Amino acid sequence: MSTSSAVAGATPRRTFAVISHPDAGKSTLTEALALHAHVISEAGAVHGKGNRRGTVSDWMEMEKARGISITSAALQFEYDGHVVNLVDTPGHSDFSEDTYRVLTAVDAAVMLVDAAKGLEPQTLKLFQVCAHRGIPVITVINKWDRPGRDPFELMDSIEQEIKLRPTPLTWPVGVAGDFHGVVDRRQGRFIRYSRTAGGAKRAPEEHLDADAALAAAGVDWADALEGHELLEADGADHDQKRFLAGETTPVLFASALLNFGVAQLLDVLIELAPPPGPTVDVEGGRRAVDDDFSAFVFKVQSGMDSSHRDRLAYARVCSGVFERGMIVTHADSGRPFSTKYAQAVFGRERTSVETAFPGDIIGLVNASALRVGDTVYDGTPVRFPRIEAFAPEHFATVSVTDTGRWKQFRKGIEQLDEEGVVQVLRSELRGDHSPVLAAVGPMQFEVVAARLQTEFNAPVRLEPLGYSLARLVDADQRDRLGGMSGVEVLERRDGEHLALFVDKWRLQTVLRNNPGLELRAMAAAH
Ligand code: GDP
Repeated sequence: MSTSSAVAGATPRRTFAVISHPDAGKSTLTEALALHAHVISEAGAVHGKGNRRGTVSDWMEMEKARGISITSAALQFEYDGHVVNLVDTPGHSDFSEDTYRVLTAVDAAVMLVDAAKGLEPQTLKLFQVCAHRGIPVITVINKWDRPGRDPFELMDSIEQEIKLRPTPLTWPVGVAGDFHGVVDRRQGRFIRYSRTAGGAKRAPEEHLDADAALAAAGVDWADALEGHELLEADGADHDQKRFLAGETTPVLFASALLNFGVAQLLDVLIELAPPPGPTVDVEGGRRAVDDDFSAFVFKVQSGMDSSHRDRLAYARVCSGVFERGMIVTHADSGRPFSTKYAQAVFGRERTSVETAFPGDIIGLVNASALRVGDTVYDGTPVRFPRIEAFAPEHFATVSVTDTGRWKQFRKGIEQLDEEGVVQVLRSELRGDHSPVLAAVGPMQFEVVAARLQTEFNAPVRLEPLGYSLARLVDADQRDRLGGMSGVEVLERRDGEHLALFVDKWRLQTVLRNNPGLELRAMAAAH
């Protein structure tokens, strides 16, 4: 069978991630989604809190101790004739470049908002990345079973804070804390939910017409209908084109804990979220989904198994059909790469993935040659653009505390830099013994320290630096920044020079005093 007919004949895909602030209910929602669907495979981590599904990947002691999942991986399930890939975003209170990189592997995002807390800082940051990448966003207002804000107030805050027009697909029947069900605004019917013990099963759902709804929910139904009409009069109805253009966000009301609204979310993902499309390559061409096989590495992980230090690369299939065992080409080195062991990473039950299609996430083991941002392909050569490094906001120097371990330290730093765990910055002034680490979130530093200790047996000391923002500066202009207080220029592995500033006032002063100085902003986390 030709690649194009194999791709055309495959079950359609939907690939998405959940963006949220910690505690908004991402794990609970993930588990509820899995409950509603037939789970095919789990790659790596879905971190379970409480007594539901357990942790799949706890590859680091630190992770275990904190009960968090630092690693990103994917959950694949079948729903309504589709294969859905949920790419996990790390769920800790701090966040790192990994979180952002996951968003390069998805076609849509679900923005999960706590009904009582509204939009929170991490959600806003992740939303900015979606906006920057043109990823359409579906909003889920979660925890409607608990007292929370007024739904109109929540809609206003979305419109004001992220400049997306909310277009609710459902509207709650019952105020937050008294959740009976929702108006399905497009069908004009009442979807009534009922509780199951502990939310451990799919919540039964009844679909009632308007008359039956009034009889069943009385004044709550009438209020919900009034809300629906107000939204209609305000033009807040779903428009597929505007959603895909990133102008609007469809909104659903849910309780992940009670499994209310979860089926609607799956239906909406199938109906409205875009399928995998062509991927733009470095030359600006488009690799069509039915072209020869190609995939893009968005995450690399080492030390999963301390007995054999392996490197695992997660890649999104961009085009063609992946078949385990195929020999692909690593675009960045031109070397062949064997995918014989691709199955080993998938799932607690070691479900092997023999075949994967565009939108799917594959885990490649023995991937010591692969780096974040690399491309692998079969047939017609292709290379996708690398992922931009995000603007770091946290800086620290790192040095080995046991000078006898200097070699291991250097090797470790090199590897973590290559893996993209942290950006390593150097300068002649600072020398090689204490490079500067730059990160999006301070948790990245802890990961570095823990991994240097456990994997390289190199205990380190981290000392925070007082800088808070970075700009790119051309090499020929770097001298203009020399000797200023509150400013330092360092070099990154890719040869870019980063100017670090203590705060934005210092940056402004420098710009004012140096007309013609060109500083470039990096892909911003906000
Ligand atoms: P995460 O940090 O975003 O992964 O959040 P969790 O899924 O771990 O949820 C955080 C807390 O909120 C847990 O105690 C959950 O039981 C609770 N929670 C999640 N969803 C809901 C919900 O819909 N309703 C209520 N009442 N609690 C919820």
